Amino acid sequence: MSYKLLNGKEISAQIKNEIAEEVKNIIAKGGKQPHLAAILVGTDGASETYVAHKVKSCEQVGFKSSLIRYNTDVSQETLVKKIIEINENTDIDGLIVQLPIPDHISEDKIIETIDPKKDVDGFHPVNIGKLTIGLPTYISATPKGIIELLKRNNIETSGKHCVVIGRSNIVGKPVSILLSQKSETGNATVTLCHSRTINLKEITLQADILIAAIGKKEFVTADMVKEGAVVVDVGIHRVKSDKTKSGWKLKGDVKFDEVAPKCSYITPVPGGVGPMTIVSLLQNTLSASKKEIYK
Ligand code: NAP
Repeated sequence: MSYKLLNGKEISAQIKNEIAEEVKNIIAKGGKQPHLAAILVGTDGASETYVAHKVKSCEQVGFKSSLIRYNTDVSQETLVKKIIEINENTDIDGLIVQLPIPDHISEDKIIETIDPKKDVDGFHPVNIGKLTIGLPTYISATPKGIIELLKRNNIETSGKHCVVIGRSNIVGKPVSILLSQKSETGNATVTLCHSRTINLKEITLQADILIAAIGKKEFVTADMVKEGAVVVDVGIHRVKSDKTKSGWKLKGDVKFDEVAPKCSYITPVPGGVGPMTIVSLLQNTLSASKKEIYK
C-alpha cells in the first residue's frame, strides 16, 4: 500500500504562520504581546532541547518568552515560590515547568501550584477535569497536536476504532478521552492499552487509528498493524548515529520502515507529532493571552 505522511513539520509551520499573523494584528491594534514563561530544572539533554525549541518557537511567532533555570538541587519551596510569583505577574500569560523534575520535588505539588489560568501545558487537575467533561480548556500539547494533525489531514475519527497504547497523564489518557468525546474530532470507539493489556496484538490489529505512546523504541511492528490503518507515533528516542552531524538521530515507538507500507497514513519521527506538540503550546499561550478560556 502506498502511504501518506502525516507531516507535522509542514502543518506546524502553517499554524505558526497563522499565529504570527494574529499576533501582528493584536500588537498593531495596541494589544498585549503574548508571554510564555518556562521553568527548567537541571541540565538533562532532552529537556534542554525541548525547552530551547519552545523558546525559539515563541520568537518565531512574535511571543515574548522568559526562561527561568535552576540547578538540579533546587528546593521544592524555591520552585513553589517562583511559580506563585509568576502566577501573580500580570505580564506572563502562560507558564510551563519542563518535566521530568528531580525526584526530591513532588511533580503533583508543582503542577497544582500553577494557576489553572496560566497552565498552558494543560496538566493541572482542574484543566484535565474540564477536558474530561468536554468543557473549553487548555488541552495538553501532545494530544491537542495529534487531534489537529488528524483534523488537518481530513482523517475521519467518527465511528472508527482507535487503539491507544500508553495511559500516561500527558499523552495516552487525554488523547483517548479526546477521541471518545462527543465532538467533531472525536466520536471514535477507543481502546486504551497499557503494560497489563493481554493480547495487545489482537487489539492493535483491530485499529483503524493506532496511537503509539509507549516510550519503547520501535515497539510497534508490522504484524501488529491492520492493512490501511492510520498510525500516529508519539515516541521519541535518541539513538547514536555516525551518519548525522549531531552524532544521534531520532526513532519512534513504531518500526517505521516495516509498518509504513501497511498504512494509509503514518507520522514520521522526527517531523510528526513533535512539532505539533510545540505549536499546540503556542496556541494555548495565545489563547491564555486572549483570555479565551478563563476571563
Ligand atoms: P510514559 O509515561 O512512560 O507511559 C508509557 C505507557 O506505555 C504506560 O502507560 C505504560 O503502561 C505503557 N507501556 C509500557 N510498556 C508497554 C507494553 N509492553 N505494552 C503496552 N503498554 C506498555 O510515556 P509518555 O510520557 O506517554 O511518553 C511516551 C513516549 O512519547 C516517550 O517516548 C516520550 O519520549 C514520547 N513523548 C513525545 C512527545 C512529543 O512531543 N512527540 C511528547 C510526550 C512524550 P503502564 O501504565 O502499565 O506502565
